[in-house]
Amino acid sequence: MSLRSTLDFLLYQWLDAESLNQRPRFAEHSRETFDAVFETCERIAREKYAPFNRLVDTQEPHFDGDKVILPQATYEAQKAYAESGMLSAAQDFEHGGMQLPYTIEAAANSFFAMASVSIGSGMLSTGNANLLMAHGTPMQKQVFASNEFSGRFSGTMCLSEPQAGSSLSDVATRATPDGEDFAQDPLGARYRMRGNKMWISAGDHELTENIIHLVLAKIPGPDSQLPAGTRGISLFIVPKKLVNTAGELTGERNDVALAGLNHKLGWRGTVNTLLNFGEGKYPVVSTGGGLDGKGAGAVGYLVGQPGEGLRCMFHMMNEARIGVGIAAVMLGQAGYEASLDYAKTRPQGRPSGPAGKDATRPQVPIIEHADVKRMLLAQKSYCEGALALALYCARLVDEQHTGTPDAADEARLLLEVLTPIAKSWPSEWCLEANSLAIQVHGGYGYTRDFPVEQYWRDNRLNMIHEGTHGIQAMDLLGRKVLMENGRGLALLAGRIQATAAQAQQVPELTAHAAALTAAWQQVTNATQAAWATGKPVDALANAVPYLQAFGHTVLAWIWLDVALATVRLDASQLIAVNIGRMRAAAYFYHYELPKIGAWLQVVANRDLTCADMPADAF
Ligand SMILES: Cc1cc2nc3c(=O)[nH]c(=O)nc-3n(C[C@H](O)[C@H](O)[C@H](O)COP(=O)(O)OP(=O)(O)OC[C@H]3O[C@@H](n4cnc5c(N)ncnc54)[C@H](O)[C@@H]3O)c2cc1C
Repeated sequence: MSLRSTLDFLLYQWLDAESLNQRPRFAEHSRETFDAVFETCERIAREKYAPFNRLVDTQEPHFDGDKVILPQATYEAQKAYAESGMLSAAQDFEHGGMQLPYTIEAAANSFFAMASVSIGSGMLSTGNANLLMAHGTPMQKQVFASNEFSGRFSGTMCLSEPQAGSSLSDVATRATPDGEDFAQDPLGARYRMRGNKMWISAGDHELTENIIHLVLAKIPGPDSQLPAGTRGISLFIVPKKLVNTAGELTGERNDVALAGLNHKLGWRGTVNTLLNFGEGKYPVVSTGGGLDGKGAGAVGYLVGQPGEGLRCMFHMMNEARIGVGIAAVMLGQAGYEASLDYAKTRPQGRPSGPAGKDATRPQVPIIEHADVKRMLLAQKSYCEGALALALYCARLVDEQHTGTPDAADEARLLLEVLTPIAKSWPSEWCLEANSLAIQVHGGYGYTRDFPVEQYWRDNRLNMIHEGTHGIQAMDLLGRKVLMENGRGLALLAGRIQATAAQAQQVPELTAHAAALTAAWQQVTNATQAAWATGKPVDALANAVPYLQAFGHTVLAWIWLDVALATVRLDASQLIAVNIGRMRAAAYFYHYELPKIGAWLQVVANRDLTCADMPADAF
């Protein structure tokens, strides 16, 4: 089944995405306009992305001492993506956007992630510009965001530093007011920045006229010390090349220097950089002497209020994390489709009949073997289930932005609880799908002659960036399930129970409904037991097994809801694809959901085997 038909089913027959058009914001849209966006994205992904996925893996970005060199195909992909209008898909018509629901935007972007996850980095620019639309001044929106939406400029997110990855409170990049008139700059209060930012994706290249870095940094206090903790973090726009209020390049380079490229396991189409801000390599003299009297210090313009940097960044976090989840799903899906094709055509072995194997008979394609079917069904259940969850969350984002006040509030809280799952679950299990895709290929899967090893390498990133697995797990058990007195958890429980109650009425789903109800009860009990002593060290000692069990239960719920939509189809639609969907749901219930028992046991026992292990005993 193609990605497009899976999306059509999930969006239109399960999530009723067409009903979004009844909202004033989306009233100009129809199923036809949504489909037109999908067709454009599918075509560009097929023509400009997929054929070059291997090329961008083998022709890694390199630095010639002056510029970052990327393959020509990357330029073509970038241009086609910008011309498609997807950079500003969600923006207002009056700002040149398409005013698309996020659900449709996320689904449309999945075509690109599946064709070549790393050739384009457009979603970084979109995230950067969307943030400026939410928190920037009118001038910042006009000069920076609008030029990112048009594709003239591109954007980055500069959070991490060599010594501050998961622990952003330790950010040490320093921003000091730039001259007496610093507060009067029309582009925003002007600062000089000094520090190092590590792992910055799309941090240097020649794909666009300019690169707009969004940088987290701290403003020193009167004692010239940096404030401790995350509350002291502010956000700055730091363009690679300085611009005037008309958005034109002034001809002066900002003091942002490429210190080096990171050579990665996968995702090689996107350049990844260590950037030095303010070391004096490109002195800026137009605004005065800078940090050393000779122009050192990267010029940065404050976004929002001092100390509100993380709050501004986190405004976009749900969408960024759903985006990571979708990328993980699409890599899993790409591996699934490759291994399915392979399994249908690779002859190997013979079935066992009552008299054993008959060596005179031709070999069968490996898809005839039960274990290969198991590996294919596992991949299908991970990837289609995770895609459904991602779209469900995307639909909640639209509800949060355009629903009634009550519905919007409910969507906000549900997203708080579900986003760690939407990001982390596909990162772990669609990566496992990639591993199974290699296994289906046997030895051939372990070579570079087939695409599946690259999908695995590309996907390995997703458990690391946008909050590591461990950090997401602590966010879920340490914060999200507790917040607002557990109201988010209660809302989710209500939705799970509603699905189970409906499924209870459908004979072929009754057993799944009972299994889901029991699983949710186990999760609830383990949540309470984890916090029984009230001590975070006890509760969070097994946060990752909790995340895994919680995620598997959420996926079981999503699969049951999708199965309900499938059984509601009329008889003329009951074709092989729906049988496959029901079987993937059954696989999840029979082979996956029972795993939660072991994961939750250590959580409920507040098992300290790992937490208490002395470091010197390893
Ligand atoms: C390819 C790539 C692209 C990236 N792109 C960007 C980008 O564009 N912009 C950007 O700002 N960053 C980017 N990152 C950085 C990424 O977000 C960080 O790598 C990530 O946040 C982890 O930080 P770290 O690498 O310093 O690991 P660390 O924080 O040192 O973590 C190492 C390990 O320790 C665990 N750990 C850390 N703290 C705790 C704790 N308190 N409790 C339990 N376990 C803990 C982690 O879970 C992890 O397993 C990128 C990274 C990569 C690899």
